[in-house]
Amino acid sequence: MFETQYNEEMEAEARRTEAAQAAGNMRVGFVGLGIMGGAMANNLQKAGYALTVWNRDLSKTDQLVAGGAGRAASPREVAEKSDMVISMMADPAAVAAVRDGEQGIIAGLRPGSGYLDMSTVDTETTLASAQYAHQCSALFLEAPVAGSRKPAEDGTLTIMAAGDRALYDKALPLLEKMGKKILYLGEAGSAARMKLANNLVMGGMLTAFCEGMALAIKTGLDPVQFLDVLDSGAMSNPMFRMKGAAVVENAEFPVAFPLKHMQKDLRLALQLAEKAGQPLFATATVNELFKKALAAGLGEVDFAAVNRVIRG
Ligand code: NAP
Repeated sequence: MFETQYNEEMEAEARRTEAAQAAGNMRVGFVGLGIMGGAMANNLQKAGYALTVWNRDLSKTDQLVAGGAGRAASPREVAEKSDMVISMMADPAAVAAVRDGEQGIIAGLRPGSGYLDMSTVDTETTLASAQYAHQCSALFLEAPVAGSRKPAEDGTLTIMAAGDRALYDKALPLLEKMGKKILYLGEAGSAARMKLANNLVMGGMLTAFCEGMALAIKTGLDPVQFLDVLDSGAMSNPMFRMKGAAVVENAEFPVAFPLKHMQKDLRLALQLAEKAGQPLFATATVNELFKKALAAGLGEVDFAAVNRVIRG
């Protein structure tokens, strides 16, 4: 039985080497296979990259392993077996959990290898990741994304990259499998700041949309006509169109962007603003609303559920 398992592993390793050769010899690691990471890793695998994967909940590696990926026992092993390791984690604490310590990514980096973190985090976290990678003579790139579950599945994300240019150039063919618009923003930290500025707009827009809808309904207007009016003017946008029906019905929207992550982004944007000396009047209020939604147990559902708190 041991021999059969050994042979299967050898065959899988041979297939991965073959796939790596087909994709320019790049061995790619992926850590964090949640809503976004799972879909992004899947697109890399479809493009022929030889993946080694790890996720805290191991069951989320099953589909990729069935498709030929290697399952590592730790983030460290992912890094050891990869030329470039990508992570897509929930928040700063999750990034640190897979990055640091004996079994972390940093412990497995080799000189010249690359560490590419695509999670939405604060600048302190991303700068620490860059520093630790550089201490191993490895390269670092932060590359948070805009776009949700569907763009992640379709490979049409917007990717904001910053950090080591040499790693960006090397990673570009992979980023192109995950995104349709890819920007290089300069020094590490710029992409985290860009992403947080982007997401505070999104949180504010959704809140204003839900409040407008609540007022329309409360005062006897036809909510479908309200959607129509919004959609015919300068405020027309895909998010209102996508979430509109669920907001009208105050119904559950299938989880694309978990509400807890939206609140995390608002919190990080406010922290950044405080350090920069930039007041964010509306965002502070929107954050309080999302905190209330979190306290109401809505953290795991889609962020459109903030509508429930507004409608009462
Ligand atoms: P998700 O589905 O909640 O996945 C989060 C990932 O982090 C999972 O792999 C989870 O592992 C892992 N994780 C959390 N805490 C951990 C810990 N302490 N140790 C190890 N692993 C841990 O989130 P997502 O929607 O894919 O989002 C990932 C990142 O992309 C977030 O930073 C989010 O803000 C950002 N983002 C999300 C969207 C979106 O629409 N969903 C869009 C743009 C950007 P388990 O599976 O074991 O829980």
